[in-house]
Parts: sequence; C-alpha cells; structure tokens
Amino acid sequence: MKKIQMVDLKGQYEAIKDTVKNSIDEVLETSAFINGPYVHQFQKDLESYLDVKHVIPCANGTDALQIAMMGLGLKPGDEVITADFTFAATVEVIALLNLTPVLVDVNEEDFNISIEAIEKAITPKTKAIVPVHLFGQCANMEAIMKLAEKHNLFVIEDNAQAIGASYTFEDGTQKKAGTIGHVAATSFFPSKNLGCYGDGGAIFTNDDKLAHTLRGVVNHGMYERYHHDVVGVNSRLDSIQAAVLGAKLPNLDAYNEARYLAAKKYTEALKECEHVITPSFSDKKEEHVFHQYTLRITNGKRDDLVKYLNENGIPCGVYYPIPLHLQKAYSDNRYNESEFKTTNQLVKEVISLPMHTELDDDQIDFITSKVIEFVNR
Ligand SMILES: *Cc1c(COP(=O)(O)O)cnc(C)c1O
Repeated sequence: MKKIQMVDLKGQYEAIKDTVKNSIDEVLETSAFINGPYVHQFQKDLESYLDVKHVIPCANGTDALQIAMMGLGLKPGDEVITADFTFAATVEVIALLNLTPVLVDVNEEDFNISIEAIEKAITPKTKAIVPVHLFGQCANMEAIMKLAEKHNLFVIEDNAQAIGASYTFEDGTQKKAGTIGHVAATSFFPSKNLGCYGDGGAIFTNDDKLAHTLRGVVNHGMYERYHHDVVGVNSRLDSIQAAVLGAKLPNLDAYNEARYLAAKKYTEALKECEHVITPSFSDKKEEHVFHQYTLRITNGKRDDLVKYLNENGIPCGVYYPIPLHLQKAYSDNRYNESEFKTTNQLVKEVISLPMHTELDDDQIDFITSKVIEFVNR
C-alpha cells in the first residue's frame, strides 16, 4: 500500500506533468510573468466553466474576500454575518476593514451557516451575509438569497472549499457554487480542489458594474494608468500559477468525482459504525466536492482517535478545533454561549480523514478498518 497522505499533490502532478511543464516553460520563454496571456486565458476558461460573467483573478483567497467587500462599498460599522465554524480568513477580512463581524451558529447536518441563526442576527446595521460552503457543499443558498432580498443585504459566497460544486434550487435548476450570490471569493491554495503551485485566488460576479469596480480595486484603484480613483490593493495572480491552473481546470470535474467516490466508499464502510456520524450528502454527485470528508465522533474520544490513526500511519485533521467566537481576536461580549450550541459541540467531535484525488481502495479500506477497530476497542 502506498503511504497515506492527507493530500497527495505529488501523485496528482505525475498525471499532468507534461502539460504543466510545457505551460510553465512557455511562460518562461515569453517572460510575461504578470498579466500575461495565461492569466487572461485562465480567466476566460473559468468564466465559461462556472457560467459566470466575470472572473477577477487575484493573489489568494483571503485577498479575494477582502476585495469583494471593498468593491461592495461596505462602510466601517456595517455588520456582516458569517459562520462561527470556518477558517479564520472569512472573519479576519471583515474585521480588517473595520466592519463588524457577527458570528452565528451552523447546522449540525451539513456544518453550514444556520438560516435561523442568520435571521435572528439581522439588525438595521446588517449589510451583508458571507455563507461559507464548508468542506465542499453549498450552504442553503435559496433561503439565504431570499433573506438577503427581504432585508436588502449583499451575499458574498466564500467558495474557497467548493469550487466546481453545484447547488440545486427547489425548482430543479442548478448553479455552480460561487455564482449565486452578488459576488464570491475563491482560493487556489495548493490543497484546495483546484489548487495552483503557490498562492492564488479569484473573485466571481455576474454584475458588470461591480466587476469593473473590482478590477480597479485589485490594481491600486486604477481604472486609467496612474489615475487612482479608489483606494485599492495590489493583488495579482501570476502567470506561472495561471499556467498551472489552466492545465488543471480541464480535470476539475474528474478530480471532484474522484473525491466523491472516495467519500462514498468511506461512508459505505462507516455508516453503521457506532459513535460515528458520517457526513450528510445527496446522491447527486455534483452537489458535494468533498474538500474534506469529515466525521463526527460522538463518544467523546475524538482526540484519542486522532492519536490512534496517527500511530497507525494515517494522517487526519481537526477542522476546526476552536469556534471563531472563542478566538482571542474575534471574541466579543455581545456573544452569548447559548447561541453557539452546534459549533461548540462540533469542535469537540469533528475529524477529517485523508481526502484527495489519488486515494485508492486499499488505503480507504485500511483507514476505515482502523476507525472501526478504534470505536470497537
Ligand atoms: C483557504 C480558505 C480561505 C483563504 O484562502 P487563501 O488562499 O489561503 O488566502 C478562505 N476561506 C476558506 C473557507 C478557506 O478554506
């Protein structure tokens, strides 16, 4: 059996080595390192893949979130609602822009932001909602868009973990994650479902006017050379990363399907297992792209399981071990512990198993056998 890794970038690289090397070589030969043809081509390719009008590439996913919020013209003191159970980047940029983060609880079924909790948190100062499509599955966008419309709020999708996933509306229509809200941010960090070989990110929107604003914000607030109309930032996707992404994008659906199939095998093996709750997902394979495969361990022994798996050569992760509202940087005496029942419980129960495009059956069998062995000890 191959050594088990949390993410196997090397294995994935082997299959696309020639294409990637040729593209990188071409960038080196043309020496168009910034805003070269590969950046433009990747932008176009991603627009058509997502069926979205505008993709604005930038330097990383955190920048993408920040730039999206800058482009919407949010003002200091505006309240922005987001999930308590996510990576800190989301709340970080809200705070950085002097907006007021309002963290709310999530659902225990899909780990995504709770609609009831959003509703309760809306005040006259609320200006935006940032749903995070956690672990590869969309938040309840239909309900979120309805709430946003009712209260006149912007919706900024944090799509760093769900690129390529689809969301199905009640009437059966589907849209790609990141094309439903007013604007979305994604990350091309190497371990993300569409990862480059360094840092990268992008913003998506169907709004022409907003897209124009965002293209200036990423480039020092310039719309005309050396005319700075708004305060901007410097955030660029470089050509070498765009060349890597361009080589990987045609494989994204196959990568996501490989993850889904691995997830199904995990669930098949673990669904009857006592003290283990497998993640909930539908049998529409396009709806979950499994950035992470996350179990809940309900007998209070999650940390012992982490240790046990590690001792058996199986890496695993705890995403996320601390709710954001209990992080020093983001704690606030406005918050009441009773509002965060689910997050407070999930941080003690969750464990993410190895998940990537190169997992084989032997590895999955070995991993699941060790989980079963542990809970039956
Ligand atoms: C990875 C990630 C980000 C940040 O992306 P970077 O490219 O690392 O800046 C933001 N939000 C979520 C949910 C993420 O998983």
